[in-house]
Amino acid sequence: MSDIKNDNEWGFDTLAVRAGQKRTLEGEHSEPIFPTSSYVFESAASAAARFSGDEPGNIYSRFTNPTVRNFEERLAQLEGGECCVATASGMSAILSTCCGLLEAGDHIVSSKSIFGSTVVLFDKYLSRMGITVTYVPITDLDAWQQAITSKTKLLFVETPSNPLTEIADLEALATIAHRHDSILVVDNAFCTPALQKPLTLGADVVIHSATKYIDGQGRCIGGAVVGNKKLVGEDVYGFLRTAGPSMSPFNAWVFLKGLETLNLRMNAHSDNALKLAQFLEQHENVNRVYYPGLASHPQHALAVKQQTNFGGVLAFDVKGGKAAAWNLIDKTKLLSITANLGDTKSTITHPATTTHGRLTDEQRAEAGITDGMIRIAVGLEDINDIVNDISQGL
Ligand SMILES: *Cc1c(COP(=O)(O)O)cnc(C)c1O
Repeated sequence: MSDIKNDNEWGFDTLAVRAGQKRTLEGEHSEPIFPTSSYVFESAASAAARFSGDEPGNIYSRFTNPTVRNFEERLAQLEGGECCVATASGMSAILSTCCGLLEAGDHIVSSKSIFGSTVVLFDKYLSRMGITVTYVPITDLDAWQQAITSKTKLLFVETPSNPLTEIADLEALATIAHRHDSILVVDNAFCTPALQKPLTLGADVVIHSATKYIDGQGRCIGGAVVGNKKLVGEDVYGFLRTAGPSMSPFNAWVFLKGLETLNLRMNAHSDNALKLAQFLEQHENVNRVYYPGLASHPQHALAVKQQTNFGGVLAFDVKGGKAAAWNLIDKTKLLSITANLGDTKSTITHPATTTHGRLTDEQRAEAGITDGMIRIAVGLEDINDIVNDISQGL
């Protein structure tokens, strides 16, 4: 009574709808939720065999849960990875990856343009454990190369970056990483495997905030790590099952449903975002628009090569700095003022005072985040309504 076989003959949308499901004897059509913390064994001997690892099977939901495993297997197949482990949040996916793969004395080379909390995790907490980080401009391959030392174990990048949508050359970064026996870790939350598959471009580990497009409707917090059996199935999973930032079965079920429509949604988000970007680029009160789908974007050609579409997030710099940006945000009637993204509902935020507010002025300037910058995560509403909402504020 199991679902489609785990092989490569199925297309992306088929895997997104069906992969990983193992029907129970009830013959349910939709994936069931298993809200159970523990599991019972046939006998004392069977319990002992489970605990020793001689017999496969569930023991405790901090380790494994059938609904969570369904989500993990589906996402692994969509990313083209051997193995996936689900986590309680995107941040715990990053923490579990670092704690599972690194030790005191190790060094990370990271893009400067990464999620604000990731910077805090690296600088304030990993540093206490003796792990050091060097930040480099995401598109400067020479800087990546030069930052590598004999202690470098991991290269970390998020592409497109938030909020500037800069694109990293993943094939080139994988080559640099492997030349130095390091691994390339890619935060793929913005593209999802519907638009970009870092593992097929040479990356070793993919990280997700499932909270974003995988959920797609802004309901649950979750994350995932995808890669091979050694790095993810043993090293990251070993930390996760011990430290415990595991995904809840309910959240896994919501994310499974999100994966079913992922490709449709990502392309619809991308279509809307491109139209809004084109409108903004023509507007007299806008200094600059950042969206990889625009021919004016510095890495447009790379985005075309590396991604199948350009995603739902764009940023732009309004004339008049912070006052003008806040004014525009406050005048919107439709868009939600929230820092979340990856929702069917369009969201608008002022990065300098929200998502990147914890950075120092200097770090913010280095990351290229101006006071007049606005980020929009373009949702699935009627694009004319979205454009009109921004237009009346400009
Ligand atoms: C939101 C986000 C994270 C953190 O994920 P949470 O689920 O909020 O913990 C990490 N990376 C990127 C790119 C994100 O957008």
